[in-house]
Amino acid sequence: MPHGVSPSCFLILYGSQKGQAQSIAEQLSDQAAEHGFEAEVSCLSKEDKYNLEKVHSPVVFVVSTTGDGEPPDTALKFVRKIKKKSLPRDHFSHLNYALLALGDTNYTNFCNCGKTIDRRLQELGANHFYATGLADDGTGLEVVVDPWIDGLWDALKKIFTKMSDSDLISDNSLNSTHQSLTIQEKLESSAQSLQLLDISDADGGKSKPESEAESHDAENPLEASLNRSVAPLSQSSLSIPALPPSFLELCLGDVPAGEEEGHVVAQDFHEAPISRALCLTRDDAVKPVILLELDIKDKNISYEPGDAFDLLCPNRDKEVEDLLHRLGLHDKKSHSVHLQLLKNTKKKGARVPAYIPEKCTLQYLLTWCLEIRSIPKKAFLRSLVDYTQETREKRRLQELCSREGAADYDRFVRNPSACILDLLRVFPSCMPPLSLLIEHLPKLQPRAYSAASSSLCHPGKVCIVFSVVGFPACAEHQQRTGLCTGWLADRVSAIIEPYGTEQASRESVDFAALPKVHIRPRLNNTFHLPSDPTVPVVMVGPGSGVAPFIGFLQQREKERERNQDSAFGETWLFFGCRHKDRDFIFREELERFVENGTLNHLKVCFSRAEPDTNDSEPKPKYVQHNLALHAEYVTRILLKENGFLYVCGDAKNMAKDVNDTLMEIIGQELQLDKLESMKTIAKLREEKRYLQDIWS
Ligand code: FAD
Repeated sequence: MPHGVSPSCFLILYGSQKGQAQSIAEQLSDQAAEHGFEAEVSCLSKEDKYNLEKVHSPVVFVVSTTGDGEPPDTALKFVRKIKKKSLPRDHFSHLNYALLALGDTNYTNFCNCGKTIDRRLQELGANHFYATGLADDGTGLEVVVDPWIDGLWDALKKIFTKMSDSDLISDNSLNSTHQSLTIQEKLESSAQSLQLLDISDADGGKSKPESEAESHDAENPLEASLNRSVAPLSQSSLSIPALPPSFLELCLGDVPAGEEEGHVVAQDFHEAPISRALCLTRDDAVKPVILLELDIKDKNISYEPGDAFDLLCPNRDKEVEDLLHRLGLHDKKSHSVHLQLLKNTKKKGARVPAYIPEKCTLQYLLTWCLEIRSIPKKAFLRSLVDYTQETREKRRLQELCSREGAADYDRFVRNPSACILDLLRVFPSCMPPLSLLIEHLPKLQPRAYSAASSSLCHPGKVCIVFSVVGFPACAEHQQRTGLCTGWLADRVSAIIEPYGTEQASRESVDFAALPKVHIRPRLNNTFHLPSDPTVPVVMVGPGSGVAPFIGFLQQREKERERNQDSAFGETWLFFGCRHKDRDFIFREELERFVENGTLNHLKVCFSRAEPDTNDSEPKPKYVQHNLALHAEYVTRILLKENGFLYVCGDAKNMAKDVNDTLMEIIGQELQLDKLESMKTIAKLREEKRYLQDIWS
C-alpha cells in the first residue's frame, strides 16, 4: 500500500452555501463506519486540513451552486486555484474522486460549480471512481442524493480493493483501470448497502401492520395522508436509513434568564428603521407588491444599484409558542439553554452549532436560530421514530423515510412543505427532545432582496420591493405567508400607504414605533451597470423583478443630470405584469424616465389583459414574447455593440423562457444552429454581459 493510503480512509470535501452540502458531507462521514470505512471531512475553504496534491486516499466532493451558477463562498478559492492555466495536465493524475453536485434546475446554470470542478479535475488527469451525481433541489435533492450515497459504498470498496491489489497509485496506472460504475452496478450496490428493515421483525414478530391500520385502509382504500398509508406501502417491508447518531446534550437553566441574555444571532446585521411603506398595487391585484424604504444613514453601509441585501426575520411568535407547548417546554421558555456535545457520541466531527449563542433563552433559540419551517429530511424522520410511542405512528414515520415510501414523502412532506410542527400535530405520540430539533433543523436563513433605489437619488436610504409569498391551506397545514415577506407585511400593515396615496398622509405615521429590520449587504455581486456608461443595456424584469432596474435608472437619471455633455448608451426595459391598471408597478417613475430620455425603450405587456378585438395582431403576453418581437435590436445590442443583458425575477418560468427565447432569436438573426446559439449565449455569460438575478 503506498504512503498516504490507510486501508479504508477516505476524504470528504464540501463546499456549502446554506449548509445542505455540509450536512450531506457529514451524513456521509457518519455512515462511513457502518460500511467499514473511516472518513475525514473538511470544508474546501480549510486548506490547512487537506492537501489534494499529495492525497492518495479516495476523495468525495459534495458541492452546491449559488447565485447565477457561482461557487459557494467556501469553494470560491478552491475553484480559482484549480482553474489556473499554469497547472500541468497530469496535476491530479494521482487523484481518485467521486463528486456529488447540488443545484436547482429552476436556474439556468444547473449544478454549475460541481460541473466546473468535475470538468477541471478531469482536465488535470484525476480519475472518477464513481459516476458524478447531479442532485436537483427543484424536484427534491434526495431523489438523486439517496441512491448516489447508497452506491458510493460499493464504489469505495472497489477502489480500495484495486488500490491494495496492485501498487497502482505509485505508477499512476489507475488512469486506465478505474472506470465509473455503471448504472446497473450502482443499483445493485445500493440495494445491498441499504439497511433492510423488515417491519415484521422490528415490531416483535407481527408479519403485518396493526389490524387497526388495516381496517382504516379497508374503509378508505385510496386515501393516504401525512399520517396514514394505504396498501401496498402499508403492507410492504421497508428499507429505512440508518439512525443518525445523536450528538447534543441540552440542559435548561433552573430559573428564568435575565433580559440581557441572547440577542446576539443578528450581530452582523444592522438594525434599520423603516422610513416608508407603500403598496405599489391596487387592492384588486392578485399579488400585492410592497415597497419598503429603510433608513441606513448612520449604518456605514454603501451600495450600488443592483446590489442585494440580506434581511433576517424571526420565526412567527405563534409557531414558536405552539412548538414550545407541543414539546412540553412552554413554562421554560425564558430559561437559558446550555448545549454541549454528548459524551461518547458516534457522530464524527460533531460540534455544537456555531450559530447557537452560548447564552440564549429557549424562546430566543426557536425564534432566531432555527429554520423551524424547513422541510424535515428523511434522517430527521428516522430519528423521530425512536421518540414515538404509538405503533401506527412509528410505522408511518418509518414509511415516510423509507425507500419504498419515497413517493409518499414527496407527496405529503416535500411538496406541501410540511414542517416539524405539522408532523408533531399529526403524530401526537411523537415527543422528541429539543436537542434532536437542534441537531436536525438548519440555521435560520436571511432572505435576499435587490436594492430598488440608487443612493444618488435616495441618500442614506435603501428601498426594497417584494410580493408577499402565500401558501394556501392544504391537508398538511393551514394557510401561510412566506416567512420573511409575511413578517414584513404584518409589521407595516398599520402604516402602509395604499396605492396612489399622496405623500402628505405619511406625516401622521409614527415610524419610530415601528420595528427595525435586520439587514446586511450581500457580497460578491456582479449585477451592476457597465462601468462604461456608453455601453447599451437591455433589462428584463417583470413584476417585482423590475426592482434593481429602478435603481439602475435612478442612477442613470442622476448621472445624466450631472454630466449633460456625456454620452450614454441606449437603454431598453422589458416589463410585464397581469393588468395595466392593477399591478403596473413604478408606472409613473418609468414614464418619467422615458420622457427625460433616461430610458429609451419601455416595452410592457399584460398577461391577463382582455384581447382587443380591433387588433389584427395578438399582443405579446409575457416579456419573452416582447423580446422576440424586438429580436433585431436585442441581437444588435448584444452581439454587435457589446451591450449587456440583465434578467431579474422569477427563476421558475420567466428566466428559462427568456433564455430559450434568446437562443431562438440569436439563432434566427445570425442563422446559427442550436449548438452555435448555445455557445454564443455561454460566451455572453462568460464575459459577464448576460447577467441574471433570479429567485424562486
Ligand atoms: P419562504 O418562507 O422562504 O418561502 C419561499 C419558498 O419556500 C417558496 O417559494 C416555496 O418553495 C417554499 N415554501 C415555504 N413554505 C411553503 C409552504 N407552506 N407551502 C409550499 N411551499 C413553501 N424577492 C422579492 O420579492 N424581491 C426581490 O427584490 C428579491 N431579490 C432577490 C435577490 C436575490 C439575490 C435572491 C437570491 C432572492 C431574491 N428574492 C427577492 C427572493 C427572496 O429572497 C425570498 O426568497 C422571497 O421573498 C420569499 O421569502 P419568504 O421568506 O417570504 O418565503
